[in-house]
Amino acid sequence: MKFVMNDKYNVPKIQQLKMIRLLLMGFWHRFCKPTQSTIAFLLMTLITTNVYGQKKFKITLLGTGTPAPSIERFGSSTLIEAGSETLLFDVGRGTTQRLWQLGIPLRQVTDVFLTHFHSDHTVGLPDLWLTGWLPAAFGQRVKPLHIWGGHGVKRLTKNLQKAYQTDIKMRIADEKLSLPGASLVSKEIHEGVVYERNGVKVTAFNVDHGKAIRPALGYRIDYNGHTVVISGDTRVCDNLLHFAKGADVLIHEVAAAKVELLNTSKFFRRVIAHHTTPEEAGMIFESVKPKLAVYSHLVLLGSPTISTPTIAEVVALTRKNYSGQLEIGEDLMTLEISDTISVRRFAAITD
Ligand SMILES: [Zn+2]
Ligand SMILES: [Zn+2]
Repeated sequence: MKFVMNDKYNVPKIQQLKMIRLLLMGFWHRFCKPTQSTIAFLLMTLITTNVYGQKKFKITLLGTGTPAPSIERFGSSTLIEAGSETLLFDVGRGTTQRLWQLGIPLRQVTDVFLTHFHSDHTVGLPDLWLTGWLPAAFGQRVKPLHIWGGHGVKRLTKNLQKAYQTDIKMRIADEKLSLPGASLVSKEIHEGVVYERNGVKVTAFNVDHGKAIRPALGYRIDYNGHTVVISGDTRVCDNLLHFAKGADVLIHEVAAAKVELLNTSKFFRRVIAHHTTPEEAGMIFESVKPKLAVYSHLVLLGSPTISTPTIAEVVALTRKNYSGQLEIGEDLMTLEISDTISVRRFAAITD
């Protein structure tokens, strides 16, 4: 199996700009003196680099799944590339594979923001951290990895370092790897602006994932006049409506099960009660009115005798309350935000 990129919409603007630059260069080269031509080339390079290099605001859904050990949907993880920043929101199962599938070296992720401590959001952390430290091309981290999260994040990182101390000691002694690259630096955060660097602002806000599951955070990421909001795991929550105001893209979790299943199982009723149903998500989207609503973390419950709801059913239920733009997130789907939002998905093909 191999993967190809499908551009759902038109030629990406970066390609258009490159073409314009080539055309203009041809014109200048034909009619201007060599020095003018060189200056023009430098100017055009500066313009295109500035617009599409530094101002890039790109979301990649690395994992859109749940605790279910699915090969199609890996554990929860969303990559945000904004200007010079590369930030990760949650680090579920398979995050490392998805990053390298995109050719992104693991060292490029400098900061990981956790929504909460359910294992489907954190279990990929030791992999990202320690595999990213190895000297191969996919690794080579020489600085500490920063982990941001609610109360409990320090305990998590301290104990992870304890759990892996034998490996760390061995590799330092045997492979002469540097200690800083194997360090985790954690920061406990609360609601409010938690990170501001190179024009990227990250705001954490409280969500409601159930009484016993606290802290539970969502994140708002602002960059270059645009906004992405990640719900984290939550049931309907007024605070999210407040912090999601004006978002270009709202990435929201969703959970669904057939009525027959819920009627027979207390366990499944409890699961659904900790999440947001498609009808409820529809109301949230209708209230926030993002330019684009995206589902990620799709909790689709079923049993050996009762099937899981289909994607079409999830969409139909959402549409009861929401008529705006909606995408069903898939692993490796990318969303690029500028004045428009372009959506691209990886399509699996077989030879
Ligand atoms: Zn979850
Ligand atoms: Zn959870």
